Amino acid sequence: MFSPDYFWRYSRQIVLHDVGVEGQEKLKDGSVAIIGLGGLGSQVAMSLAASGVGHMRLVDFDVVSTPDLHRQLIYSERDVGYAKAEAAANRISNINRDVRVEPRCEYVSEENARDLVGDVDLVIDCTDSFQAKYTINRVCAKLKKPLIFGSAIEYYGNVATFEPWGDVCLECLYPELSDEDYPSCAVAGVLPQCVQVVGSIQSAEAVRYILGSPTLLNTLLFVDLKNYALDRLNIAQNPSCPHRANKPLSTPRVWEPTEVCSRNGRRQLLMVLESKPNVDEVYERWVRLGDAERRGRLAVEVRKPDGVYTYTAAGAILGEVDTRIDAKTAKQIITQLATTASQT
Ligand SMILES: [Zn+2]
Repeated sequence: MFSPDYFWRYSRQIVLHDVGVEGQEKLKDGSVAIIGLGGLGSQVAMSLAASGVGHMRLVDFDVVSTPDLHRQLIYSERDVGYAKAEAAANRISNINRDVRVEPRCEYVSEENARDLVGDVDLVIDCTDSFQAKYTINRVCAKLKKPLIFGSAIEYYGNVATFEPWGDVCLECLYPELSDEDYPSCAVAGVLPQCVQVVGSIQSAEAVRYILGSPTLLNTLLFVDLKNYALDRLNIAQNPSCPHRANKPLSTPRVWEPTEVCSRNGRRQLLMVLESKPNVDEVYERWVRLGDAERRGRLAVEVRKPDGVYTYTAAGAILGEVDTRIDAKTAKQIITQLATTASQT
């Protein structure tokens, strides 16, 4: 039975016909993995924490960057340079101390997906890459985990719920798309309110799923914030679904430095290391190179004359570099840092 304080806190949702005391118990016992802590994931995490969902695993490899702040409302200015997983977990603990929150600074890959979602009731996909989405779809199918998919770009968004071990899955709807063929938020732009609406719908759907009555199972909700319109579309089984056909996922995991985006006088670079050196060790090594600083438990930053490079516990170095440095030189700097970081 709930304590009077607990009851008081959630009283405005307990009175809802669909929730009640029994529903609130389900939320309290519920556990979710939120994968991707950008615009969608930060909205989902805050909303579910406030609603009293008991256990939350927060997964992202990235660090908070200044252009995130216009739409990722979970972060504040002082979080810039810190791992998103850690900054988001701190904020969630401030919103609701009863939530057991678990930050995981990791990439989703075929190797770790099972570990990330194996023990939760529900998976909420808030990533911005098809590669990650397909990996999540497949592991959810294998482990029989329900999946709430979301995406948003410019003024438009999608939400759908799948039980991908059944007839219909994400790859029935969007088969074999490649990240290279689609613009990112950095290129196409995104309306902050669009990700907030889409994230709010994902979290409403998560609550409904936990309560036992999802609305968007095998249904695509198309959100149009340009015309303030919502459309629903039934999703049918796709006879040539690559997942059903057991087609292997293409895994373009490169260990080369990659330029992610170049805009407004800044280049963003990413390099994934083959090993995942400990953040403390990287700090020790980078201190010898210059102006290194810890950014919480999960990240360390080094400042160079024309750029800032951050190593996160996911085993990645992210660089934000002035465009006066040409791409080749920037890649050389990040490669050198990677070599230093993984020295034994
Ligand atoms: Zn399918």
